[in-house]
Amino acid sequence: MKRSDEFAGVAPTGPRTRMADLPLRRELLNRTSYLAPQPSVSIRMNTNESPFPPTSQVSEEILVSLREAVTSLHRYPDRDAIELRTDLAEYISRQTGVPVDFGNIWAANGSLEILLQLMQVFGGSERSALSFVPSYSMYASIATTTEVEWLEIARDAEFSLNTDKALAAILEHTPDIVFLTNPHNPTGQSMATADLQRILEAAPGIVIVDEAYGEFSSVPSAIGLIDRFPTRLMVTRTLSKAFGFAGGRLGYLVAAPEAIEALKLVSLPYHLSALTQAAARAVLRHADEILGHVAELTKERERITRVLRHHRFDVVDSAANFLLFGRFTDAPLAWQHYLDQGVLIRDIGIPHYLRMSIGNAAENDRFIEITQLLEPMGP
Ligand SMILES: *Cc1c(COP(=O)(O)O)cnc(C)c1O
Repeated sequence: MKRSDEFAGVAPTGPRTRMADLPLRRELLNRTSYLAPQPSVSIRMNTNESPFPPTSQVSEEILVSLREAVTSLHRYPDRDAIELRTDLAEYISRQTGVPVDFGNIWAANGSLEILLQLMQVFGGSERSALSFVPSYSMYASIATTTEVEWLEIARDAEFSLNTDKALAAILEHTPDIVFLTNPHNPTGQSMATADLQRILEAAPGIVIVDEAYGEFSSVPSAIGLIDRFPTRLMVTRTLSKAFGFAGGRLGYLVAAPEAIEALKLVSLPYHLSALTQAAARAVLRHADEILGHVAELTKERERITRVLRHHRFDVVDSAANFLLFGRFTDAPLAWQHYLDQGVLIRDIGIPHYLRMSIGNAAENDRFIEITQLLEPMGP
């Protein structure tokens, strides 16, 4: 079997070995690991993180909570994370206006762990999952590494999702799992509740609505539809983006209580460390203050959109904290141009387009300066 040298490695002892020499599971053959590079650059705009570190007040509160949690580190954490889930439920009820309690919430190490648990509960080798691409690359990765058959349906030329075509694809393929992202990644587009409702009515299995960027959008959360579709609608959320807690790793599921109980069947006992639970609760106590940045980022997003369009770049309307923009004759070359100037953005492999995460005002100014030196592709 011929394998690329990317898989080559040197064993600490013994001869040169390659990943292909390992008796890997079939699903892992020819796969690469998550590809977002993490070089050290002065301006990072590639993974949609918040550009704002915790304020000294929030840091202090996290440290106080951690100090207290440390006194019990000889014990396993609360396996059910009841207090944290209660705080999350309180936040969700407030943010969306839909009353939920801790029985509607399951928390894990990032929403990616939630997605993995959803695949473990609803996937398996007899099942299929469908996504409308381009979409978040981790969906395919998590589905296929858990033996779920992966189906991709292309979005329209302008990246939008045509609901009639989506329904036709769902009726044709009858996927057990449908992935939707609202606002969508990598385009930033949002989906109207009526369209989501039609998909929920047509889907034969579960529909995962990933609301990682929900706080940035003015479209109502899908959480309001859980009562109508209790056995099928799974809404994932995270503290990684709007809450600026990407390094803390905390994501959660909002769903009917039965679905939460089902996730407990696959969740590893004590999966969420006492330190994570304590830090996340401290952050949630400052939700209003931290989410104050959302308005600022939204304003910056609109400013960048205007300037780029003025310079004849195509910018997809975004309801999130990032922009998909182009068109470049050679997107990888343009990406390198930004990197050479110390700005890391994202090339997700969409021809002629790049994605940038909204930074603070100074970072955005720098991004705009560099962009102005580039030529958009002709019509
Ligand atoms: C960033 C992102 C996530 C977040 O994953 P976490 O594990 O919560 O950090 C989930 N879904 C999408 C579409 C994202 O862009």
